[in-house]
Amino acid sequence: MRRKIAAGNWKMNGTAAALSELDALAASISDDRATVVICPPAPLLYRAVECTKSSPIQIGAQDCHVQTSGAFTGDISAPMIADTGAAYVILGHSERRDAHEESNSDVRQKVKAAWAANLTAILCIGESGDDRAANNTLDIIGGQLSGSLPDATTAENTVIAYEPIWAIGTGLVPSLEQIIEVHDFIRARLITRFGADIGNAIPLLYGGSVKPDNAGTIFQAENVDGALVGGASLKASDFAPIISALAAS
Ligand code: PEP
Repeated sequence: MRRKIAAGNWKMNGTAAALSELDALAASISDDRATVVICPPAPLLYRAVECTKSSPIQIGAQDCHVQTSGAFTGDISAPMIADTGAAYVILGHSERRDAHEESNSDVRQKVKAAWAANLTAILCIGESGDDRAANNTLDIIGGQLSGSLPDATTAENTVIAYEPIWAIGTGLVPSLEQIIEVHDFIRARLITRFGADIGNAIPLLYGGSVKPDNAGTIFQAENVDGALVGGASLKASDFAPIISALAAS
């Protein structure tokens, strides 16, 4: 049995007022069949941890630097994130790979930095619309997996999120068959590289325009163990039904 995980990426959205959504979300979680992680902007991390202390919600960051400290103005290190009480960090999100030109090798170093601080990495991979149109999806995914995942990957230190870039924030969602094809491919690659025990246990999330009305269908796929959700994680009233659909899957 793999861990089921519903992770919310708030991106650069939310000030202290948004923390009330965490209270509302906590109140709506009725069982522990799915782990719930919310990744707010960095200035909210400590307060988010404080206000979820007596709830099942875990808190994560959206990026970390590869170094633990130093002259890196504006950056945040993994030990700083861990110091807030957060337990997860999203790494290699397509918005960072794109806007900050993060390579697979940069992301791999960040994953190692996260582990060194005892954070669980949520590693994002995904193809562009052009890659998909050119039938290059599995090549791109295979390259991102081998380039971004360190050798010491385990099911405890890493979660993988498949996020087709063309589906993020667009309302476009791959067909269930397309999701199954990529998730089955990722699972096979993980088993080949890390062995059956680890490869079968690493949770695989789907991300890209997951909403309450499509979550149940997406969670039917055998190798989809949860979702990384952007827009629909901002409001508890949208995220709660996604969590329920995952718990029931
Ligand atoms: C994301 O940015 O990780 C994401 C999946 O966004 P959305 O759910 O809004 O498509």
